[in-house]
Amino acid sequence: MTVSLGLPTIPRRLAAGETAAASAALPPRPGPDSAPGLLDRFGRTATDLRVSLTDRCNLRCTYCMPADGLPWLPKDQALSADEIVRLVSIGVRDLGVRQVRFTGGEPLLRADLVDIVRRVAALEPRPDISLTTNAIGLAQRARALADAGLDRINVSLDSLHAETFETLTRRPFLDKVLAGVDAAAAAGLTPIKINAVLLPGVNDHEAADLLAWSLDRGHELRFIEQMPLDADRTWHRASFVTADDIRGRLAERFVLSPHAAPRDGAPAERFDAVGLGAESHLVGTVGIIASVSEPFCGDCRRTRLTAEGGVRSCLFGDAETGLRDPLRAGASDAELADLWRGAMWAKPASHGIDRDDFVQPVRTMSAIGG
Ligand code: SAM
Ligand code: SF4
Ligand code: SF4
Repeated sequence: MTVSLGLPTIPRRLAAGETAAASAALPPRPGPDSAPGLLDRFGRTATDLRVSLTDRCNLRCTYCMPADGLPWLPKDQALSADEIVRLVSIGVRDLGVRQVRFTGGEPLLRADLVDIVRRVAALEPRPDISLTTNAIGLAQRARALADAGLDRINVSLDSLHAETFETLTRRPFLDKVLAGVDAAAAAGLTPIKINAVLLPGVNDHEAADLLAWSLDRGHELRFIEQMPLDADRTWHRASFVTADDIRGRLAERFVLSPHAAPRDGAPAERFDAVGLGAESHLVGTVGIIASVSEPFCGDCRRTRLTAEGGVRSCLFGDAETGLRDPLRAGASDAELADLWRGAMWAKPASHGIDRDDFVQPVRTMSAIGG
């Protein structure tokens, strides 16, 4: 199947080659007094910070990690809890960051996660704090995370069948994930968002099952189109499961209609879903994050901090501005904020996956922080 990839809307026209892979010369950046936040040259302002707490993981999802894992970052090169909290506080206090999402790798692998959440929850203004996790070990920590100030949680769950789960993640841990989801619900981290990536011929037939399971429990399901960010480089534009494919699968058992609330820059397009026939009691919403086929780069509000303290303005741009070394060399908050602003000014207009000269980033999703 050949798909047509949508073109993102952006506030000004792209110059030739001006994508994540190749950016044109930068116009001069306004000073911090006229543009105090994380403004880019296309007029977008980043208020949503993704913080990767580690590049390590205890799963090996085929669309993300290679079977043998990756060469992990040495511990002394990863940011400490103090360093993370300092950088997040600069983002929140000085740069207009209002949402902080902890991710990875697998953020639950950090023993100091609860402490980091508690300290970020004490910042002024208090940011919205969320976590994206594979939920392994969540059963033991959900209550402590909620008590520390975690507001919301996204759990990645691609299959409800133990065998398929193991094929996808290369680990036999479905039970642990399901226990983690239940513990998060019991701890009040609701509504829980479930993230699912569908792979053709592997779990795409489970789309409606995943929605029925989520609606039945009051969780909000989000399908994420597979992106070319895997270590094995198996993504192919002719064979990934598109938003259209997903809507088609869901329509077999649900009536979908556009959700009334405005999207407001959110990556997911939401639909109201009502089950058909014997499933008519299943009512709720479902989101589709069509990063590839219906991109939303023109509304992007994200800035990312890698586990070793690099600012990454775009998932698909290899350019990174290291904050860890200046921080360890004694840079002031104002100097670090200015480096961060400079990195975001250079943010590319779009990922450019639709272009013939698209080049997959060097880092994989797990090493960037999804
Ligand atoms: N380990 C945690 C987890 O899986 O939730 C957090 C990090 S993971 C990189 C964050 C999200 O990225 C997950 O929901 C995962 O499904 C998604 N992801 C990873 N690789 C992807 C890819 N190639 N395309 C689309 N989504 C991907
Ligand atoms: Fe680990 Fe998350 Fe990547 Fe799966 S998607 S390998 S759980 S980092
Ligand atoms: Fe933002 Fe993702 Fe588009 Fe980059 S690819 S501009 S991170 S939406």
